Amino acid sequence: MGKETIVETYDLCKKYKNCTALEGLNLQVRRGEIYGLIGDNGAGKTTFLKLLSGLIYPTGGEMKLFGSSEPQELVRARRRMGVLIEEPGFYRQLSVEKNLEYFRLQKGVPGREAVEEVLQVTGLAERRKKRGRQLSFGMKQRLGLGIALLGDPELLLLDEPINGLDPSGIIEMREVLRRLSREKGITIILSSHILSELEQLADVYGFLDGGVLLEQITREALQERCGSYIELRVSEPERYVALLEKQLPGQAYQVLPEHLIHILRPLRETGWYGKLAVESEIVVDRLEEAQISLEEYFVRLKGGKKSC
Ligand code: ATP
Repeated sequence: MGKETIVETYDLCKKYKNCTALEGLNLQVRRGEIYGLIGDNGAGKTTFLKLLSGLIYPTGGEMKLFGSSEPQELVRARRRMGVLIEEPGFYRQLSVEKNLEYFRLQKGVPGREAVEEVLQVTGLAERRKKRGRQLSFGMKQRLGLGIALLGDPELLLLDEPINGLDPSGIIEMREVLRRLSREKGITIILSSHILSELEQLADVYGFLDGGVLLEQITREALQERCGSYIELRVSEPERYVALLEKQLPGQAYQVLPEHLIHILRPLRETGWYGKLAVESEIVVDRLEEAQISLEEYFVRLKGGKKSC
């Protein structure tokens, strides 16, 4: 893609007393990308975002933000970031607009029009007079996002911004994030424990499990891997795959317990795979087309590593 890499980590680690929250993380995010961090509760997503934002310090490894890794430079680089981690912090008694005005001043962002712009981009303009405590969960999330957006950040770090929203809230939040990415070119790193929440939103996915980055994969590659497959149950799986390799070299497959074989991204029609068995007197008692869902893909990736 040739775009500037604005977040790079090298063997980044975070150990707590008796818990390794992150282990040897090597990850890259390029300018303009929406990067989805996927992992179960405790996988290390929040830890990673806190490390990037400087809320906690690594116990090992290195990070580069906007190309710099020197401590002084990192402080400067973090001024170019907007962060929403855990509960959005704002004043319950103040209106949406007053909250934004308060945080504008606190962050030293010049010009009152910055508040107006944030109200527009987050879709909060009509609710500007509502007090913090009167907001729905989804609107609180938007206010948190709005506060993070003050100061025109180039990079946004959002911890589970979609978690807990209702279906229309999910769609609206995705739209807001897409707009920020498309129209303002903001790079976004966001986390979720539900892969499908980030479907069609993230350009790149990083799968975290037990503090380890299992895989970093583009949306296109993920879609390709989550395509269709054929499930076969045959009497002699070993003989079958030997035949398959001979007759159709390059056909990807997986041998599973209980005499099951998965033909991944089939190169021929379903019937061809049944015929191959029958012609060699291998008994087939199942032949089905199926689809690997995104969630299933993640489950398959995980290798039983447990977080502490
Ligand atoms: P969640 O979705 O639940 O927030 P997560 O993927 O964000 O999960 P983290 O919050 O980063 O996970 O936690 C990773 C691991 O580090 C967990 O096992 C957690 O218990 C542990 N951990 C996090 N913060 C601390 C801390 N301050 N002291 C000790 N252990 C911690």
